[in-house]
Order: sequence, then structure tokens, then C-alpha cells
Amino acid sequence: MTALRDREAVEAEERERLARYAVASAESRGRVVAEPPHRLRTAFQRDRDRVVHSRAFRRLEYKTQVFVRHEGDHYRNRLTHTLEGSQIARTIARALRLNEELAEAIVLAHDLGHTPFGHAGERVLAELMRGHGGFDHNRQSLRVVDLLEERYPGFRGLNLCSETREGILKHGVHWEHPVPLPPASEQPCLEAQVADLADEIAYVNHDVDDGLRSGLLSAEALARIPLWTELREATRRRIGEAGEGVLRARTIGALIDRLVGDLVETSARRLEAAAPADVAAVRSRAEPLLGYSGPLDRERRRLKRFLHDELYLHPHVVEATQASVPLLRELFEAYHKDPAWLPAHVRTRFAVDGEARAIADYIAGMTDRFAHSERARVRGEA
Ligand code: MG
Repeated sequence: MTALRDREAVEAEERERLARYAVASAESRGRVVAEPPHRLRTAFQRDRDRVVHSRAFRRLEYKTQVFVRHEGDHYRNRLTHTLEGSQIARTIARALRLNEELAEAIVLAHDLGHTPFGHAGERVLAELMRGHGGFDHNRQSLRVVDLLEERYPGFRGLNLCSETREGILKHGVHWEHPVPLPPASEQPCLEAQVADLADEIAYVNHDVDDGLRSGLLSAEALARIPLWTELREATRRRIGEAGEGVLRARTIGALIDRLVGDLVETSARRLEAAAPADVAAVRSRAEPLLGYSGPLDRERRRLKRFLHDELYLHPHVVEATQASVPLLRELFEAYHKDPAWLPAHVRTRFAVDGEARAIADYIAGMTDRFAHSERARVRGEA
């Protein structure tokens, strides 16, 4: 064994370590613009690094997940959500002998297309773009990595591998996209399925945590969820005397552990039973192969419904993000009326993407705080 572990060595290890239905880095369907391989990093390590070094990734820090930023420094934003999700994805991928770096790259990129001000912001843009091709955050994430990041001389975007883009894209495409799309299939590769499930485990857990900490979710209301109560009681017995903060943190830890544990065990059994020969066999299945056991799946749905009703529709959360609706509309109209407000790189894209799309791309990329300062500027207040 040589001291240096280069890309070829890592690819050889993958052939030993990964399941036959995993996506091996050396067998990627490749990039839209062919590039020579890297001496040290595999194709998916490179994708992950390109995402982390992108400007859109850094902006995630100042984008609302559920709680708007001025409410406190300890609530999740899109960046910390993304990082928690990516680590959960790595655990699941590793436990199922799938490609960790691919699952990680997909999760790191999955929210790049989110607008400022969470889902309220997305709804405004969708409304403003009606008649101009619409707006959706998954599609926007693909636009970011395929078109909007400008970091290379030979192509627009990050030129990510087909499998990474397949995972970002999620549910097929019913709209125009100027870069050739990954081939359509019934299901995405298993690493994309992992990314989707890890995203959900991350947000369900941190939203319970942030919801309790903020006081918007009450412990009494959450006690209606049997899974939560069971884990909280088991945690209390296990750790003994502890403060409320520690008990909550350990219960959240137990919940993540329960979801991940059930998911990998159930999925491993399904993979053994279905025994897909390769990635193509995974993609052609009518149903996703990864998933939870029946009982936990019901509990998981119940908890998600609870969060939807009690937290996402909480008047305080709705009000805080609804404040952004007139703000984004005003910006869109100001740019449309007088494109001189826009930076030159956006105006030059009018000819390529159309005016409405170029403006929507620009607004979607904004952080919450930049959107506020832009409104002050177009009003002549700044
Ligand atoms: Mg997410």
C-alpha cells in the first residue's frame, strides 16, 4: 500500500466498499461539459466542493428556514439546516453501503434555490412568474447550479455530474431548462432518495427543537404525539436528573436516532429482498426502495402534520414571513419599471432568459437582509 491515496485508489476502494446498486464515482454518467478527472478527488467529492465554494451556498446563512433571523441567533437558517441534513445523509448512505459523497453533495445543493423569507417568498415569486413560466424552489436550485453560478471560463454554472443534478431536480421536469437534463427515470438513484429522506429528518427534528425553544410549540401539545412522549420518557429514565434544555436535546437526539435506525434497517431488508443488480434496476422500479417500517411511517406522518398545523401555520410564523410578500412584489415591480436598479450582470441576461426570469432569478438569490436593503434603495431611503 502506498502512502498516497489518490482518486484512483479511492475509486478502487469504492468497488470493494459500495453495494452494486450504489453509484460508484468512476461510473458517473458524467458532466454536460466533459472535464479531465482530478488527481485526488472523485467526481462527487468535486461536486460537493463546488457547491460549498459557491456564492449561493454562502447566502444560505442569511435565508429564513422557519424563523426569521432577527428572532434569535440560535434558530436554524437554511445553512445550518443544510449542514444538519448533509450529516444525516452521510450516516444513512454509509450504513447502506451507498456513495456518501454523492448523497452529501445533493443535500448541500438541495436548498440553493430557496427564496428569501421561506415559503412565503416562494409563493410570491410563483405568483409574479405566472404567465412567465412559473417558479419552484427545486427547479431554482437546478438553475443555480446549472446557470446562475459563474465561476468557470468554459461554461455557465458548476457543471455538476448527472447524478448530483438528478438528486437536486427531484420530481421530473415539466418546464424549459436550457441545459440538457439527466435522463428521466421512474426513481432517482438511491443516493438521491437518501438525500430527500435526510432533508426531512433534519427539518422535522430541528423544527421541533426550535419550536419548543421559541415557545411557539407547547410541551403539552407535543405530548399528543405518542412517538415524542415515548422517547421523552425513555430519555428521562436514561439520563436521570437533568435540566429541560438537556432533556430536550437528548430527546431530539433519540428521535433522529429512531428515524435513521428504522430507515436503514427497513431499507436494508428491502434492498436484500429486491436485490437490484445495479443503479439502472433501482431507477426502473415503480416505487422508491428506501423507506420506513409501517408503524414508524405513520408516526412520522403524524409528527409532520402536527408541525404543519401547530408551527408552520402558527400566526407568529405566518406573520413574520408574510411581511415579505409586499416587499418582494415591490422589488419585482421596481426592477421591471426601471431596470437601471439592477446590476449589469442581470440586465445582460434579459436577452438570454427574458426579463421576468432574469429578475426572478435575481430576487430568488437574495438573502432576507439584502432584500430589505434593496427595498430601501429603490425607495430612495438608503
Ligand atoms: Mg431542505
